[in-house]
Amino acid sequence: NNVSKEDIRKVIRDEGIEVIRVVFNDIVNVGRARNIPAKVFLDDVLENGVQYPSAMFSVDTAANFVLAAGAGFAGGYGSWMLKVDPATFTVLPWVEKTARVIADVYTLDGEPVSVYPRGVMQKVIRELESEGYSTFGAAELEFYVFRELSDAGYNPTWTGLQCYSEVKQSEVDALLWDMVVPFNSLGIQVEAANTEYGPGQFEISMKPKSGLGQADAAFYYKNSVKELMKKKGLLATFMTKPLSGKSGSGAHFHHSLYHLDTGKNAFYDANDKYGMSNVFKHFIAGQLAHSKAICALANPSINSYRRIRPYTFAPSNITWGFENRMCLIRVPHARGQATHLENRMPGADNNPYLMMAAMYAAGLDGIRNKTPLPDPVLNEDAYAITGEGQLPTSLEQALEALKADEALHKYLGADVINAFIALKTNELSRFNDYVTPWEVEEYSELF
Ligand code: GLU
Ligand code: MG
Ligand code: MG
Repeated sequence: NNVSKEDIRKVIRDEGIEVIRVVFNDIVNVGRARNIPAKVFLDDVLENGVQYPSAMFSVDTAANFVLAAGAGFAGGYGSWMLKVDPATFTVLPWVEKTARVIADVYTLDGEPVSVYPRGVMQKVIRELESEGYSTFGAAELEFYVFRELSDAGYNPTWTGLQCYSEVKQSEVDALLWDMVVPFNSLGIQVEAANTEYGPGQFEISMKPKSGLGQADAAFYYKNSVKELMKKKGLLATFMTKPLSGKSGSGAHFHHSLYHLDTGKNAFYDANDKYGMSNVFKHFIAGQLAHSKAICALANPSINSYRRIRPYTFAPSNITWGFENRMCLIRVPHARGQATHLENRMPGADNNPYLMMAAMYAAGLDGIRNKTPLPDPVLNEDAYAITGEGQLPTSLEQALEALKADEALHKYLGADVINAFIALKTNELSRFNDYVTPWEVEEYSELF
């Protein structure tokens, strides 16, 4: 996508665009924006960027104080500079005369901000490029759409256990297509759209993209679905486990490496028994070896860990296999140029830039160290096989693993990992101080 600044000027003029949202995401994947009138954008922001207060980089103000004192954040909540990436410019079909463009975040001295997730992924992509690889992938995001939050809890837009049901889907066709159609004009090509297992749960899968595009698409996807549903008075949530006892929302990550020089898939080897190159085997081995630490970034909330349960289509043990959806890593049947893995670990609440950066970094680490690949789980119950151990069962455990993972510190940068851990430790302590409704119901009369 080689969009130039000149192309952008032309679109703004030809389509009468009046407002441009300059957006980026923070560590917890909330899309933040400064809305700029077209004239100011054309005269100034497109070339020079726009300032942004560094304090607004996570959900919680108290946590921001912790972060501000830590690595990478401008002291005293100083300013950062948002510089637009022209390749990401898109007109928004659902708002009048409005366009959106993703920004990269710099200090006022022009240094890339080390805690900015998109910059972190860029760093890992460069590292792969230095070894001769390009990246190609897509996250498979699931989400719920609710009518409203009432005292009785959520009110799903559809009910029952009707995953892929034709009749149920026809009932919600209007909703589904109102999400799918605008995606095309955002440069996101939809492959399939369907109802999922939980009541009110959906999945829209999209075609893979290369480089930053695969994370940009996941970021746009979430923001766009939430905004489109909000316009209808509905709540779309990518919270991983919104309903007790119902299906969680995953964000399985399908990906592969290509050789930069030939454009050929680097994971395929026609002469191997399984059609897998050594690069592919070491890449998977690297992800398995670092999976406990990756888990913190792929499942970044307290709630994420309620999804990681046996017999739910979400993985719980550190295993890999062929076409085995009980495994952490599934190698789908396709070979040749389509050879790839599906890592089923991520919950829908992940930050796609950090999750993908961690997955690619761990794979690259496996390639560089020639990490040996454990045996696959063949046609067996992967939930009954411990493999390389179990995934963390809580955010605390995952953060401990992340803290101890030197390779991820090196590839992603210590700053972003320290900031992430500081933010999440603060979140955990707020949670641990909170008496939940469950405790009151269970214990108040009993004891
Ligand atoms: N909802 C499942 C998960 O949390 C995935 C279901 C599927 O395989 O599509 O991972
Ligand atoms: Mg699914
Ligand atoms: Mg999947």
